[in-house]
Amino acid sequence: MNNPLYVYNSISRDKDHFVPKEEGYVGMYVCGPTVYSDVHLGNCRTFVSFDIIYRYLLFLGYKVRYVRNITDVGHLTGDSEDGEDKIVVKAKQERLEPMEVVQKYMNGFHDMMDVFNVKRPSIEPRATGHILEQIEMVQDIIKNGYGYESNGSVYFDTVKFNEDKGSYGKLSGRVMDELLEETRVLKNQSEKRNASDFAIWMKAAPEHLMKWESPWSVGFPGWHLECSAMSTKYLGSNFDIHGGGNDLKFPHHENEIAQNEGACGCAPARYWLHTNMLLMNGRKMSKSEDNSITPEQLFTGSSKHVSKGYSPMVIRFFMLMAHYRSTMDITDDALQAAEKGYYKLMDAYYSLQELNTNNTDEGSLDQEVNALIDQAHADMNDDFNTPKALSRFFELTSMVNKLKGGQLKISDLGSATLDRLKKAFQSFIFDIFGLKDEAHHDDDHNHLDGAMRLIIDLRADARANKNWAVADKIRDTLSELEITLKDGKDGTDWSIH
Ligand code: AMP
Ligand code: ZN
Repeated sequence: MNNPLYVYNSISRDKDHFVPKEEGYVGMYVCGPTVYSDVHLGNCRTFVSFDIIYRYLLFLGYKVRYVRNITDVGHLTGDSEDGEDKIVVKAKQERLEPMEVVQKYMNGFHDMMDVFNVKRPSIEPRATGHILEQIEMVQDIIKNGYGYESNGSVYFDTVKFNEDKGSYGKLSGRVMDELLEETRVLKNQSEKRNASDFAIWMKAAPEHLMKWESPWSVGFPGWHLECSAMSTKYLGSNFDIHGGGNDLKFPHHENEIAQNEGACGCAPARYWLHTNMLLMNGRKMSKSEDNSITPEQLFTGSSKHVSKGYSPMVIRFFMLMAHYRSTMDITDDALQAAEKGYYKLMDAYYSLQELNTNNTDEGSLDQEVNALIDQAHADMNDDFNTPKALSRFFELTSMVNKLKGGQLKISDLGSATLDRLKKAFQSFIFDIFGLKDEAHHDDDHNHLDGAMRLIIDLRADARANKNWAVADKIRDTLSELEITLKDGKDGTDWSIH
């Protein structure tokens, strides 16, 4: 781990030198999806951003335990306490079991993460599988004087916590007095000591679908509690990185910090990383505001916002083109630029493989090439600056193209530098940026399809000439290769099974 890594820490509001608690190991928790609907592209941006962070930590040689939860209970509509459980609402609408809703959208989420080549986390805990841990945490919070029961529900006493620790609002910058003045009338406001208090356990109505026994009532945990309990369980009470979209800073993450400090007196995470929002038409992409586009709509081009379809890797490339802390507006022009950029980078990777040099000394191009590679590493060490790192690779790409085209002489590149350049392309494109080679995979398919068309024509000719031996031989040999021919009214098609 040569260069120091700096990460922007939302708690210190500064770029901090990243030093894990235990040398060589990183514990990272990222708030996962609430699985009540299909993921939209904004959600995907956040998970792709953390995927790049995860991949870069792995690239640096850390052993990373990456925990990303699944929220399958307690997240209420409107993100407020007077809402209804989002999963229960969906279960009623679709006449499904709540766990059927969870399974359905969790499967869809996993499929979509695979499509975007997002690495799977080390642990993916579910809130409903950790009710006991959450009840224990509520008990600890009550024992320490920061929680109180009221009519079967349990609330976190934000005022008492702030008096003792002086820190409620330290992550989000919200001010206690202003929070108290916020006059939103919530259903259970009368049960609370202070308007800013939040539920950590909620009593369920008799007809409520997902509920558990607890010392206070038959009920369910508050949304914020699950992340506090599950991060503590798998990463310890003080771990390295906690992440999520910046829309979760308040109240979700602020309340997580309060709960962890209230339960054990320790701040959960040392570095808080927040991704910025994907916008559409200048507004946050959001399902509830009907301002969202699904990944499928982008793949197929079936949305009024795009002129054509874009492949998953083009979209992943598009996401790399902005820093994770900047907002990003999805536009057709930006996607077209991403498409060009993605193919250009991939082509350069293949051109590079074919370059060889006999120069075993230093060449006149070495310094420039090495400097660009060093800069790309420095960009990643500077709070994972993917757009800058990409720009270095575009400079390298144009050098590769000139070397290939003869405008630059390959003998001006030393063999050690050429090797380093090949390795850098390999590790940045595939390991760090997490791109897959759709472009050349498609080329392979096109070649194979061309060859198959020829074979199908030859077989048709053989049959027309009643040359059954040749026709059968073609079919049987293809069958041994697990290629099936299907004769239809529009001709013959082929598939690999
Ligand atoms: P949810 O399923 O609503 O809990 O959201 C899952 C994750 O997606 C959270 O980390 C959110 O912060 C994030 N998210 C939601 N909308 C957007 C958006 N428009 N752009 C980027 N991230 C988002
Ligand atoms: Zn969370």
